[in-house]
Amino acid sequence: MKKTNSKTKKTLNKHVVSHSCVFCDKLIKRLHFTKSPDWQAMWDDGVVDKIAANYGSRFDGNMYIIAICDKCIEEKEGLGKIKFIGNYMESNCG
Ligand SMILES: [Zn+2]
Repeated sequence: MKKTNSKTKKTLNKHVVSHSCVFCDKLIKRLHFTKSPDWQAMWDDGVVDKIAANYGSRFDGNMYIIAICDKCIEEKEGLGKIKFIGNYMESNCG
């Protein structure tokens, strides 16, 4: 039987009111408090979503929440550090 890590489960279920941008530390605040997980909530002037480590990473299988402010998205995309791959609200997003 697989042992559940209660600390990890608690962290995954915790809904916070803000996250810090991974690049500049700006606080990205939740627009409305709901019971939605952070990656499904609405955030002011930034993106908060989850990423998952795949095979090849020593963190394979781990999931993380990552936050990037809009200013840093614009800057890092311009530098080629973040790659734009589409807009999920457009029908041709793939
Ligand atoms: Zn930033």
